[in-house]
Amino acid sequence: MIDPVPDIELNDGTQIPQLGFGVYQVDPAETGQAVSTALQTGYRHVDTAASYRNERQVGEAVRAAGDSAYVTTKYLSPTDDHGAQDAKEAFARSFDRLGLDRVDLYLIHFPVEAGDGYTAAWRALSELRGDGRLRSIGVSNFTPQQLGRVVDDTGVTPAINQIELHPYFQQAELRREHVERGITTEAWGPLGQGAVLDDPVLREIAEAHGKTVSQVVLRWHLQLGIVVIPKSVTPSRIRENFDVFDFRLAEDEMRAIEQLDRPDGRVGIDPHTFAFPKERVDEE
Ligand code: NAD
Repeated sequence: MIDPVPDIELNDGTQIPQLGFGVYQVDPAETGQAVSTALQTGYRHVDTAASYRNERQVGEAVRAAGDSAYVTTKYLSPTDDHGAQDAKEAFARSFDRLGLDRVDLYLIHFPVEAGDGYTAAWRALSELRGDGRLRSIGVSNFTPQQLGRVVDDTGVTPAINQIELHPYFQQAELRREHVERGITTEAWGPLGQGAVLDDPVLREIAEAHGKTVSQVVLRWHLQLGIVVIPKSVTPSRIRENFDVFDFRLAEDEMRAIEQLDRPDGRVGIDPHTFAFPKERVDEE
């Protein structure tokens, strides 16, 4: 089978498949089946996190398929004071649970401002990157100021910032900041966690192409150069979300989708008010 998914080059010289498969809120009991279906469909990139508590099942499914998928996982500080040592220990536990030769991308899941803050965790990730178990490092839910602070503090630019991004919440300013800094934008909640799927403008564009709204939205992300990681546990939808390489949105369609951006378009967790769990988020 010819692989239709383009690779995007990150600022550390490595490549990431532009379309991946997300497993947030996927029950561990369902994760193996969902990831296996995705890998059989042709996805070769899976996005998990320690806090999803399904890294073990992701690792098993990836190993069963020949260990060739790109795997991302994430560090979530248990308190509002990220510590370098905690980040290193959490990485070791994620690495063990995944059971793969290496982790392709490790992200700081949410920034916190208190104490030594996320800069200590970022320094820890920078040190981990050299040791063979980890290829690329990045962040998630960081603002322009927070990106500036880690770069100024360590001289190491995150390869990726993974942020909420979909037609109702397009984050144009943050995306411009990423371009200036050479950071790749990765969209979480790329379908607005389902919120955009009934939109009449998107529906009209979908009908014109004989595609679904979900496919149009994913196509929009791909044409903007964004790395995108839709989630589904339904096999037909997993396949539908991969079938996005046989059509192209015209300039006027891209512009019509740009008009759908809303000041109140956020549907997921707001990083500014995110409450840290106060206890370790991952399993033993
Ligand atoms: P999403 O935008 O991918 O939406 C997922 C929901 O859309 C599914 O639950 C399903 O109900 C629906 N859906 C999916 N495909 C569909 C289709 N073809 N037709 C109809 N409905 C469909 O939302 P998400 O899961 O929140 O985000 C994707 C991934 O991003 C996650 O799984 C996770 O890996 C990552 N994520 C990261 C963060 C972060 O803070 N870094 C936060 C949330 C999610």
